[in-house]
Amino acid sequence: MSVVQPLLDLQEIDGRIRNLQQEIRDIPQRKAQEQERLNGAREALARAQAELKSAQLRVNEAELEVKSRRDKIQSIKQNQVLLKTNKEFQMYNLEIAKIEGEIDNYEARQLAAMDDVIPVKHRVGEAEAKLKEEQSVVDAYVAELDARLAAVKAELAVSEGERAESAKKVSPQFILYYERLRTKRWPVVVSLQPDCVCNGCHLVQPPSVGQMVWRNQGLVPCQMCGRILYKA
Ligand SMILES: [Zn+2]
Repeated sequence: MSVVQPLLDLQEIDGRIRNLQQEIRDIPQRKAQEQERLNGAREALARAQAELKSAQLRVNEAELEVKSRRDKIQSIKQNQVLLKTNKEFQMYNLEIAKIEGEIDNYEARQLAAMDDVIPVKHRVGEAEAKLKEEQSVVDAYVAELDARLAAVKAELAVSEGERAESAKKVSPQFILYYERLRTKRWPVVVSLQPDCVCNGCHLVQPPSVGQMVWRNQGLVPCQMCGRILYKA
């Protein structure tokens, strides 16, 4: 058995731990990406709602114009009874007729605006349904990601326990070297190819290094990258 076998076992567990930690970091980002997928549907709904608001505003504006003119006619009629001459009375009637013409105009506009509201309302309904549908897909996926996150965290706790056990089987000299290199190079322990090439940095080692590795003589680092070499 290779002298580095206990270290290889430890490295195998560390590899798993690294992957689990990476997944824990990635999940919140994946959840955020899912939420972003709803942006298109949210924007479509906001546009339809803004259109509906402006269509309803046009209806209300025409309605107000009609009402203010009706009030005006009302007040003219009240003044008419106080008039002295027939000529004045006729003038007031002309004024009323003119305002009534305006009312017809605004009522026609109000009806047209109300016709515009109907299809826009329909679009708002469609946009709401689409958003709701997409939201339920996203919610389901986010729930899956949350479940996965909980599973990964549990798996990580188990792996960390295994790591502590496995580390006890490695000699202190190896552990120290391994831990120092682990944050800079990964993997730390690599095989030396038969042609004396380091499997980490792919550089050829001097024959003396190869000999030490073939003889299984303790901790042999690569002369270039410092990784621990072993005979495959
Ligand atoms: Zn190397």
